[in-house]
Amino acid sequence: MMKVLIAASEVAPIVKLGGLGDVIGSLPKALEKVGVNADVVVPFFDNAKLEDRDVYKSLDLNIPFGGENNQVEVYKTKLPGTNVDVFLLKNYKYFSKGGREAFANNISETEMFTFFDMAVVEYVKSEFNTYDLVHCNDWHTGLITHLLNDELGLERPATLFTIHNLLYQGKGGVDLVKDVGIYPGEHRLIDWDVSDGDLNLILQGITSSDYVNAVSPTYAREIVTQEFGKELSEVIKGREGRLTGILNGIDYSQFPRNYDSGNYTSAKKSYKEDIQKELKLENFRKPTFAFISRLDANQKGLDILIKIVPEIVKNGGQFVLLGTGDKEWEANFAKLNEKEGLEGNVSVNIKFDVELANQIYAASDFLLVPSKYEPCGLIQMIGMWYGSLPIVHEVGGLKDSVTDGVNGFSFDTYSSGRLLSAVQRAFKVYGTHLMDSMIENAMKTDFSWDKSALEYKILYEKVVKLHEESFI
Ligand code: ADP
Repeated sequence: MMKVLIAASEVAPIVKLGGLGDVIGSLPKALEKVGVNADVVVPFFDNAKLEDRDVYKSLDLNIPFGGENNQVEVYKTKLPGTNVDVFLLKNYKYFSKGGREAFANNISETEMFTFFDMAVVEYVKSEFNTYDLVHCNDWHTGLITHLLNDELGLERPATLFTIHNLLYQGKGGVDLVKDVGIYPGEHRLIDWDVSDGDLNLILQGITSSDYVNAVSPTYAREIVTQEFGKELSEVIKGREGRLTGILNGIDYSQFPRNYDSGNYTSAKKSYKEDIQKELKLENFRKPTFAFISRLDANQKGLDILIKIVPEIVKNGGQFVLLGTGDKEWEANFAKLNEKEGLEGNVSVNIKFDVELANQIYAASDFLLVPSKYEPCGLIQMIGMWYGSLPIVHEVGGLKDSVTDGVNGFSFDTYSSGRLLSAVQRAFKVYGTHLMDSMIENAMKTDFSWDKSALEYKILYEKVVKLHEESFI
């Protein structure tokens, strides 16, 4: 059986900061079902949630880093409800302050994860290099391939690098290269990268791995363009032929639902009545448009969304927002609660509340996802599961999961006008038989991990073969 090590900064439910944690927590479970033996390795942060799970120390590693010898204790546990081994790397100096928003003043995030990369490689060596492939995720794991090469040469496992979000790159100081014991001239890619004064960890991961994938087929095509790939587009283009996309799945067990595609009508109606009372919305039979998101102005389409909220109300709809993030945008949206003419039809909730999120998914008719870019996006998949039809910008994973007029609505150009015209199409469909069949289609669309895990298995096999062929 193929043996894979998945390296990442987080794994839900043990360490979860964002969507990446969900992916790393669900993929190995699904891989286990298709016959891939996947282990996970993450830093052991102080706030790791281990509850009463068995955790035991399995070995000690010695990591030379920054001119010092550092001890790393390797702890082992199981991913809850699975047979998947999770290895937690413990080191007070580098990892004790990670895994939350605030980091130690003297240790940067890039230093922390460069140390992590080094420790992962030592861990692979301590396991007698029994892994067929190391699956690296995002910038936190960007140096692993180089370090594996240095330590094991061609005997190293094959490497796959997954891009979850290209805009987070992990730019660190040039000294990091010295810290891990790499000298000028040893790696052409590193020499070239640091010539502009910093080390870009995602760039290293992308350029040095045997193969690269992004978290949706469309995002994989987008990032080779200047518009989406920005300063890395040319570099990524250089990897065409060794670049693919696999859509993330979702773990449906995380999203409780007490209705299905056969009996959603009455259940959704009563959720809607409850939430309208709770959020003090006029209790009319109006279409409800929801927006649940991190308020990130670069990504989530806040500028085109805020302009159309009055139009939604004017057209006889209601708007519900649940989100936190950028302070300025929190304030911009909060003002809508007071705005004349919108009373009783707008409810802006600036908080992070998973239970309320699930209630809103169940109660709403439409879910707005106007993101400027979206590598994969889970929100539209969750919305469909709850029978809330997504209205999405045709980018990245949104394009790959929503079919206009079938299980949601989509618009092509990023503008308020195009978003509004999709919203108007939704108004037309509201309350018709077509709406019923679209809801049924949405609820039946399968985004479980099973399909994607099989694609990862096939990709792993391909990458291992390519790596083997490279030294014949
Ligand atoms: P991203 O990873 O870019 O934030 P995704 O669509 O992949 O976007 O995932 C967002 C996840 O975060 C969803 O599960 C969504 O329900 C949840 N979420 C976002 N904002 C909130 C909030 N304010 N309260 C509760 N859950 C939220």
